[in-house]
Amino acid sequence: MDIKSVLAAIEKNDMRALYAADCAQARRMVKEILKKGATVSSGGSMTLRESGIYELITGGDYNYLDRAVDADATRNAFKADYYLLGCNAITRDGVLYNVDGFANRISALTFGPERVIVVAGRNKIVDSLEDAILRVKTVAAPLNARRLGCKTYCAEHGRCVSLNKEDSQMCDGCSSPQRICCSYAVTAKQRIKDRITVIIIDEELGL
Ligand code: SF4
Repeated sequence: MDIKSVLAAIEKNDMRALYAADCAQARRMVKEILKKGATVSSGGSMTLRESGIYELITGGDYNYLDRAVDADATRNAFKADYYLLGCNAITRDGVLYNVDGFANRISALTFGPERVIVVAGRNKIVDSLEDAILRVKTVAAPLNARRLGCKTYCAEHGRCVSLNKEDSQMCDGCSSPQRICCSYAVTAKQRIKDRITVIIIDEELGL
């Protein structure tokens, strides 16, 4: 998939789109965007960790709202200057697709801080929204459920139980109390231009 054309499609949807050749360049970009001392929050993301961006934002130059030490950090994320997150999938036509268990990440993305930075590896690019839905059901959710120790069908079998039926729909899934697919966000053309910046790193990152 041609990353440059995906970036152009994201721009057409009034999100800022940046190409990073590697994680080091992505870190420099994030550092350039974030003002020193700014209040920063983030969603849980393997991409942020693998790219070293999580280390950057928690390294002391910013007021990082840490969920591990402050129970209110998730709600306070709405008041942060910047919110950073990974992405479950990005379509060829510049649409972001994300699925959450608690919806803290997608609510910050859609209606949270004034500035949002989405960081994704090239492996997150898919052809269509249908493929984005399938990617979550066959890759992201099973791996995340395993990582988080959630007792779900996908953690055990590597794919969503909904795929066992012929006409599987986006919201179909398991009835586990630990289900991680509960709220779904499709981020398309934006009204607030460049509120969201998307950095695509030309590496395979995250789940
Ligand atoms: S709905 Fe349940 S089984 Fe399906 S992908 Fe999500 S957590 Fe896994």
